[in-house]
Amino acid sequence: MAPSTVVNLQEKIIDVPDFPKPGIVFKDITPILLDPESMRSMVDQFAESIDLPIDKIAAVESRGFLIGAPLAHRLGTGLVLIRKKGKLPRKTIQQGYGLEYGEDIIEVQEGDLNSGDRVMIIDDVLATGGTAHATELVCKTAGAEVIGFRFLMNLKFLNGEQKLTAPIQSLIDYDD
Ligand code: AMP
Repeated sequence: MAPSTVVNLQEKIIDVPDFPKPGIVFKDITPILLDPESMRSMVDQFAESIDLPIDKIAAVESRGFLIGAPLAHRLGTGLVLIRKKGKLPRKTIQQGYGLEYGEDIIEVQEGDLNSGDRVMIIDDVLATGGTAHATELVCKTAGAEVIGFRFLMNLKFLNGEQKLTAPIQSLIDYDD
């Protein structure tokens, strides 16, 4: 079988200025989702970046689900949903985190993570790191061991990595 092509994912991402508010450049990943070769290559690249044994992928609502679900399937691990408050039907463990204005809360369902589970946290973008930091905390509160983070994109100029304890890797880095 011919080796599969490595797609340049950065070329597929569309910058949308001033969305959802002035000053934010939104990184739109929908062209990757629309193109099966790009999607396959993205999942391959994530899978190859994970070189330690893990039990579960913890995927962050909502675009993290689009990466986390095929990746967990590919790696043969469980998938844990990290969601905004009020979306998960059963009893949850909660973690608050600061936003530019106010606070938000993320949750994981009790029992979805077990004590000692080796977890890899997945999201599309690392920006200020608030979401990822809250995810790391909620996983630890649930008793899991956070092995690391994998992001499609790291907006390095926002220094999100400084908030995180576990090691991170990203497929694409933006320096400005
Ligand atoms: P933060 O908590 O600031 O690191 O923001 C991370 C979360 O917000 C991720 O779940 C991203 O999906 C989303 N996000 C932040 N900045 C962007 C951006 N420029 N483009 C797309 N999504 C973003």
